[in-house]
Amino acid sequence: MKKSVRRCKFHNLLFGAAFFATLLFLTAVSALPVRAAENLLDPGEDLVVVIDPGHGGENLGTEEGKRLEKEMTLITAQALADELRQFEGITVYLTRTEDVDLSLEDRAQFAKDVGADFLFSIHYNASLNHNLYGSEVWVPLSSPYNAYGFQFGQIQMESMKEMGLYLRGIKTRTGQTGEDYYGILRFSTALGVPSALIEHAHVDQPEDAALLETEDQLRAFGVADAHSIARYFGLRSEALGLDYTGEAGHYAEAEKNGIQKLTLEDTTDPEHLQLSFSSANYTAGKAGIQVVAADRDGMLLYYDYSMDGGQTFSALMKWPEADPTTGSYKQSFYLDLDFGKIRDPEVIVRVYNQYDRVKESETFTFTQSFGDEQTDPSDVPPGKEDANGPGQEKPDQVPEKPEGSTDPAATGEAELPAQADGADTATQSGDTADAATAEEAGQETFDNLSGAEVPGQETDAGASPKRPDLTAGSEDGYDALLSFVSRLRGILLLFCIFFGGLFALLGLARLVNGYLSYRTAEKSRKEHARKRTLHTDNPELMDLYEADIYGAGLKEKPLRKQDKEEDDLF
Ligand SMILES: [Zn+2]
Repeated sequence: MKKSVRRCKFHNLLFGAAFFATLLFLTAVSALPVRAAENLLDPGEDLVVVIDPGHGGENLGTEEGKRLEKEMTLITAQALADELRQFEGITVYLTRTEDVDLSLEDRAQFAKDVGADFLFSIHYNASLNHNLYGSEVWVPLSSPYNAYGFQFGQIQMESMKEMGLYLRGIKTRTGQTGEDYYGILRFSTALGVPSALIEHAHVDQPEDAALLETEDQLRAFGVADAHSIARYFGLRSEALGLDYTGEAGHYAEAEKNGIQKLTLEDTTDPEHLQLSFSSANYTAGKAGIQVVAADRDGMLLYYDYSMDGGQTFSALMKWPEADPTTGSYKQSFYLDLDFGKIRDPEVIVRVYNQYDRVKESETFTFTQSFGDEQTDPSDVPPGKEDANGPGQEKPDQVPEKPEGSTDPAATGEAELPAQADGADTATQSGDTADAATAEEAGQETFDNLSGAEVPGQETDAGASPKRPDLTAGSEDGYDALLSFVSRLRGILLLFCIFFGGLFALLGLARLVNGYLSYRTAEKSRKEHARKRTLHTDNPELMDLYEADIYGAGLKEKPLRKQDKEEDDLF
């Protein structure tokens, strides 16, 4: 008995030590990578903000909407200033309160003269093909202004999302001289005034335009902007009952002395785009196509598709799970198409990145006409999808169907045009979609995984001690209690080791991830520096490059006449 007690103490010590070691380790690991991001801009004692209603006078801005842009920006900017003035400790100026001409240089100079801590330029957008939609913030190229604009932009994006807009992101654009393309940002930067240009929405696209119909709606954008700015500076307003003073730590992390990766201009088309057969119901005239696409140095934002070989295209669709505030988007999705009366559809998909650069797919065709009465049997062995369309290889990302599955529903058996003759005359159930089977396949894998876990759990359950009989009060009962307690410790210890290990792995992963993103950011900065050098040193090359972008008419061409003139428009 004595021996047992001593061993018990030893166990206690061991257990205690292990527990505290784990606890210490957890604390250390969880404390490691968390870096509270703060507002990188310190406005000092007196906060002064300048609101710049874009355009004015002869400079109309876009004329594609219900109102002229110069009128819209003034309505929004005035509502913005009114709302922002209700916050404490801020002085707000407008560059113009009337419909007057004002050069971009004068606007920036005005901001400088009043000692502005930030200039916000208010705009509405339009695109050449009237198809783009969504909200974006343009920020300066150079540090630290890029970081200031980025941190404000993240808050602004959140606000625009709440206003019901699609997000196009926080972006930079380099002009011919290697400086900021947008004059208001260029002049402000030259004078040392932090700045951002807000393109709220597109006046020439129905969904966006519906949010810009009335003056109240335009004022609502001003109020939303005011709240973004107040949040950015951590202001409070007794009158409005709003308090953003506790916002520190809610700022996006940003590199003060560099260009944020998410703001880097993407000057290349999306690199990867592949269509592959997923499913077809030839009688019903419907098919599913898997789209796999990626942009190496940016992100994808929209897609559209043609079913008639490129003669007509659908409206611009939102890219699945695209989020410019993180740069993430889905790299593969299923496109369900209804061909209607088209018997021999030729499918083309175009994908658009954040800078509206486009990649068009090869034409995708089917081996059988749609709309026929299905007399053929549909009994083709699985794994023959690549028989469809020229060069439609199965991409790596496509989830593989489970090997050796005997469930015909899970093998996509029924989807393909028959090539064997009609032994089997059963008509196919039509709605069978390979997308669904792929999901099933995934589901199956998942099920298998969780299935594998079940026995483990069962084992655990089996190993768990039986409840000791405490009512007995005998030595047996006491021993049982001891054994129960020691087992409980064992389980707790296992728990600690398991979670300790888990957190250790997580910590390691976060460290590695941190290092990698640092490396990537560094690379982007170098790349960007190189591009800027290219701009200044080799104008001919840049001319070529510009022609490349706009020549094909793919990119949203700004309302430009001459480059010099155009700089003065924004
Ligand atoms: Zn504008």
